[in-house]
Amino acid sequence: MTNEHVKKVLIVGGGISGLTAAIALAKNGIRAEIAEKTSEWNVYGVGIIQPPNALRALNEIGLAKECMKQGFSYSGFDYYTAQGHLLNDGDCPTIEGYPGVNGISRKKLHNILLDAVHQTETKIYMGTTVSRIEPLPEGVFVELSNGISGQYDLLLGSDGANSIVRKMIFGDVPQQYCGQGVWRYTLPRPKDIARGLFYYGRKAKAGLVPMSDDKMYLLVTTPEPGNPKMPADQLHTLLKERISEFGGIIKEYADQITDPSQVVYRPIFSHLIPQPWYKGRVLLVGDAAHGTAPHLGQGASLAIEDVIVLAELLKRNLSIENTLDQFMQERFERSRLIVEHSDQLVKWELDAWKGNLQKDVNITDYVNETLAEMNKPIISKLSTL
Ligand SMILES: Cc1cc2nc3c(=O)[nH]c(=O)nc-3n(C[C@H](O)[C@H](O)[C@H](O)COP(=O)(O)OP(=O)(O)OC[C@H]3O[C@@H](n4cnc5c(N)ncnc54)[C@H](O)[C@@H]3O)c2cc1C
Repeated sequence: MTNEHVKKVLIVGGGISGLTAAIALAKNGIRAEIAEKTSEWNVYGVGIIQPPNALRALNEIGLAKECMKQGFSYSGFDYYTAQGHLLNDGDCPTIEGYPGVNGISRKKLHNILLDAVHQTETKIYMGTTVSRIEPLPEGVFVELSNGISGQYDLLLGSDGANSIVRKMIFGDVPQQYCGQGVWRYTLPRPKDIARGLFYYGRKAKAGLVPMSDDKMYLLVTTPEPGNPKMPADQLHTLLKERISEFGGIIKEYADQITDPSQVVYRPIFSHLIPQPWYKGRVLLVGDAAHGTAPHLGQGASLAIEDVIVLAELLKRNLSIENTLDQFMQERFERSRLIVEHSDQLVKWELDAWKGNLQKDVNITDYVNETLAEMNKPIISKLSTL
C-alpha cells in the first residue's frame, strides 16, 4: 500500500543502512535522496560476517542470493588453542534455507547495494552533509552543505557511529571504549579453509574468515588499554608482534603480513542510544543508534534489519508517529541484546587475557544462544529464500 504520509525521505549517510534504506523505500514507491559525506566511495576491502538474519533481511530487497553468490557461505566455526589443538567445533544456528554464515568482502557488499540503488530513482549527493535541520509541523526542513535545501517527510540519520544527525538532534552521546582493538588483513584462501577458524591465545584471539572462493581475512582481537594511536606505517609490525605467541597456521600466515597499508585496525567502541531514536521526523538507524563490538558479527545485520523493518512498517500507512513508535517496539530490545552481549564477550576475553575468566563461562554456548535469538522471526515473519 502507498504511504500517504511519507513520500520523500532524506537519508544522511550512504553506508550499509543508508543504501539498504534507499532500495527498500523505493520498493514502497517512496522517493529518497542520499547525502554522503565522502566525495568518492572509499570502502575498505576487508570482509564482513553475515549471519542468517542479515541474509533474511537482505532477501526482502532481493539481494541475499547475490551476497551468497559473491561471498562464501559455510556452516560454522571451529575453535582452537593458540597452538592449534581443537577445543570445540559446531554449526551456527540458522534459519531454514540460509547458511549459518556468509562471509563477503565489504567492497562487494557495497557494490551490490549501490548497483541496486542505481536501479531506483534515488538521487545521491556525494561530498555532502547536513548543515541544518529544522522541525516543521508536517515534516522537516533541511539544508545540505551542497546548497540544496528542502522539506522532507522523514530524515534518516544513517551516518554511522559518529553521526552528525545524532549530535544535531540529541546532542553529544558518549561512546564507551571497550579496551580492545580489531586487526584485519586480507589473505588468499586455500580450498581447505572452508569454515571460520578461531584460535585463543593468552593475549589475543586470531581468526581466519572465508569471504570468497579465493579470499579470506585474518581477524585478530587484542587488549589495547587506553586506546593507543597506532602509527600507520608500523601496522604490519604491530600486528605481527601481537600474534607472535600463535603456532601452527596463524604463524604461517603471519609471514604474509608485509604491507602496512593493507592492515585495517579499529579500536572498539559501543553505544546504545536510549529510546526513542527519533525526534519529530528525524530517525536514527544503524550505528548512529547502536554501535556494537563486532564479536557477534551483528552490527551491519542490525543496521540492515532497522531499515527493512521501517520499510515494512511504512507499508501499513499508519501516522508517522505510530510508525516510529512501532519501529522502536520492534528494534530496541533486539539492538540492546546485541550491544550488551557483545560487550559481555569483550569483557570475558579481557578477563581471560588477565587470567581471571570464571570457570563456568561457556562462550560458545553464549554466542550460539544469542545468534539463535536473532534468528527468531521478526516483523511480519520475513520470508525464507
Ligand atoms: C572491526 C569491525 C568489524 C566488524 N565486523 C562486522 C561483521 O563481521 N558483521 C557485521 O554485521 N558487522 C560488523 N561490523 C559492524 C558494521 O561495520 C557496522 O555495524 C555497519 O557498517 C553499520 O552500518 P551503518 O550504515 O549504520 O554505518 P556505516 O556503514 O558506517 O555508514 C555510514 C555512512 O555515513 C557516511 N557519513 C558519516 N558521517 C556523515 C555525515 N556527517 N554526513 C553524511 N554522511 C556521513 C559515511 O561516510 C558512511 O558512508 C564491524 C565493525 C567493526 C568496527
